[in-house]
Amino acid sequence: MALTGLEIFKLLPKTNCKKCGMPTCLAFAMALAQKRANLDSCPDVSEEAKQTLAAAAAPPMKLVKFGTADAQVQAGQETVLFRHDEKFYSPTVLAVTVSDKLAGAELTRRIEQVNSLQFERVGTHIGTGAVAIVNDSGSADTFAAAAEAVGKACTLAPILVTDSPEAMSAAAAKVADKCPLLASATADTAEAMARIAKENNCPIVAKAESLEELSDLSEKIKAQGVEEIVLYLDAPSLKEKLYNLSRMRVLSLKKVFRPLGYPTISFVADGAAGNQAAAAISLICKYSGIVVFDTAEAHALLPMLTAVMNIFSDPQKPVQVEPKVYAIGEPGSNAPVMFTTNFSLTYYTVESDVEASRIGSYIIVVDTEGTSVLTAYSGDKLNEKTVANAIAKHNVEGLVKHKKLIIPGYVAVMSGKLEEATGWEVMVGPRESSMIPKYLQEVWKN
Ligand code: SF4
Repeated sequence: MALTGLEIFKLLPKTNCKKCGMPTCLAFAMALAQKRANLDSCPDVSEEAKQTLAAAAAPPMKLVKFGTADAQVQAGQETVLFRHDEKFYSPTVLAVTVSDKLAGAELTRRIEQVNSLQFERVGTHIGTGAVAIVNDSGSADTFAAAAEAVGKACTLAPILVTDSPEAMSAAAAKVADKCPLLASATADTAEAMARIAKENNCPIVAKAESLEELSDLSEKIKAQGVEEIVLYLDAPSLKEKLYNLSRMRVLSLKKVFRPLGYPTISFVADGAAGNQAAAAISLICKYSGIVVFDTAEAHALLPMLTAVMNIFSDPQKPVQVEPKVYAIGEPGSNAPVMFTTNFSLTYYTVESDVEASRIGSYIIVVDTEGTSVLTAYSGDKLNEKTVANAIAKHNVEGLVKHKKLIIPGYVAVMSGKLEEATGWEVMVGPRESSMIPKYLQEVWKN
């Protein structure tokens, strides 16, 4: 738990020597509490105080990463119960199972199915982040062979699912270079599983049937030298799973109970694809860091991905598109050129209306920090300089032969200054995006 200024003050030398740049130790303590200063600025602070302050400053929930650098996923590091209090940091990792009972063509087909679960939504790539290889066969050799086959054909971060240390050891050796998540260690297998995690330098899932057992188990695994732990507390019903996840979240974030200060994993293994999607979305909402499910049906996965995208977007930051020049249709050198802002909703509305005109066009997207045209203009994020900079930065003059720029009707007032700043002839477009097709058809002569 974060220390108050007075608590920090008690740990400082109290000599008021000013070497930290502050007039007194108390002023320095207050600055530290407000994260306006760094403890390193005080050269005389004791080692003991450093350790106490570092422990107090550690995040209440550990960050756990797995997978290779180019396909790495992460869970944890959350700091709040409710997104509007700040934001959520690690979008729930979605993982589809591959049973080690599959072999040959069936295994290849399943891996291809898993690999295909990648989509684009409002300009953002979304998809499964992990693949869970499940030791349904009960055989260590079969499990290792399946892990190896999946590792070769799939770039997603692997989760190895078995309660057998022997099977885990065999499979982990095959995909150690992909930093798999080992699921799971129980009270009986904690030592053996922790040893495998250490040997392969990968994180581990701690599985228990009650909160008390789970906190004991995470402490036991940590004592073995494994720091990256994911918690799995199973329950017979979805209601109980959600209750458990909520309790763990409260205990880790509000009470800073370190044995439960780790991300969580849930398994949704039964039922039709739609039922799995419904259960998974509930678990995404509260508060599973990783959700593993059997279905590889796109129609079940898309609602889960949409839920993740919405819940884990930053409430302080509007959804944005990349500021650049977008070609709509097949624009030639006489194509209309217009601009809008990088607020996702604005851009996609304009894009679809330009598309509807059936006239190949260029849309310059100006970086207005995700605000709409009028908001950006009022906040001085959309002005003659930002538009001129965007034209120059994206080399718009190299795309077309003319120098005519269509601007949103709502910012007609900037026409004069814009012509001066850019040297382009400004044409005032319609106020409403829905009028763009009619405007282009009537005004633009190809
Ligand atoms: Fe106090 Fe350390 Fe700052 Fe000196 S350098 S005033 S001892 S906090």
